[in-house]
Amino acid sequence: MIETRIQVVDREQPDPAVIAEAADVLKRGGLVAFPTETVYGLGADALNVDAVRKVFQAKGRPSDNPMIVHFSSHAQLAELADEISKKGMMLAETFWPGPLTLVVDRTILVSEVVTGGLETVAVRMPDHPVALALIEALGSGIVGPSANLSTRPSPTTAIHVLEDLKGRIELILDAGPSDIGIESTVVDVTVDPPQILRLGGLTAEMIESVIGEVQIGRDDDRLKRSPGTRYRHYAPRARVVLIDQCDRERLEVLIQQYRQEGNQVGCIVHSGDLATVESSQFFHVLPSDTEFLARYLYRSLRELDQMKADVILVEKVREEGLGATVMDRLRKAARSTPDDA
Ligand code: AMP
Ligand code: MG
Repeated sequence: MIETRIQVVDREQPDPAVIAEAADVLKRGGLVAFPTETVYGLGADALNVDAVRKVFQAKGRPSDNPMIVHFSSHAQLAELADEISKKGMMLAETFWPGPLTLVVDRTILVSEVVTGGLETVAVRMPDHPVALALIEALGSGIVGPSANLSTRPSPTTAIHVLEDLKGRIELILDAGPSDIGIESTVVDVTVDPPQILRLGGLTAEMIESVIGEVQIGRDDDRLKRSPGTRYRHYAPRARVVLIDQCDRERLEVLIQQYRQEGNQVGCIVHSGDLATVESSQFFHVLPSDTEFLARYLYRSLRELDQMKADVILVEKVREEGLGATVMDRLRKAARSTPDDA
């Protein structure tokens, strides 16, 4: 067991001494969880294969699920990525730093351990002063999968990281809750038209507004191209059940039904008129604005888990804008078996 320390750090003006200490842990091959604008990442020196292996181990992540390498400068990007296509560059210029991950051809400096054996590598420049300072202090790219145990909802606070990884990593940098609350959008720009492999903080419309047509890809094709999407993800311990938008009476009936089977029932809803339902002990009412929903979804799932809900009823959202990403995560959270994607 490693002792896990939490170090609070100012989001806008991170203390250079704290960043230097965290970078030292990375230089020694240790693991540091760090804040990004999407979710908290589990950092290791991307060019140190042993350190990267430790990340797979700490998370319980299957070794064929490749990792995103986070970088902070063009010089670092050049170390990781071979030539990037014109459309890739247009996306990079528009959305970096930000919740965009590009899949590009890798250089020989990037190990197959990072890429799960693929000839491509996923890269992203995060939009968070602490993440950027940490990468800068290390001087090269950092792998940064979400800092949770594999299959669990991604962490959006330092406490979520501690819940999952206490005793497995050395340090957690705590800069408060993540702004976006949901992972990056992954776009493969080695093909034309580029293909969205995973929806995230950027919507398909935002990507298309810059480069025109993109492929969203059929599920089976996407699975082949992006191994990580095959696994169970984003799930609390409780069973997640998606429900259509419904009125108060219908929700009461559903809650009673699950209760009669002996379940503690939690709810995450966002329709205004449902806010007054009181029969559930565990009731989270989120604003219907999809940005807010994205920001608080994982937090809500984790909190209802902590309250020992057996079943969590989640009201579906319209698949528009970030709503499409939220529904993607909810469907994955609602799957009951590990490998049925
Ligand atoms: P995570 O870091 O857990 O948020 O997930 C990273 C996502 O990026 C997973 O869905 C991976 O399958 C995907 N990914 C990472 N590297 C590659 C790559 N080289 N090619 C395709 N997908 C990738
Ligand atoms: Mg993850």
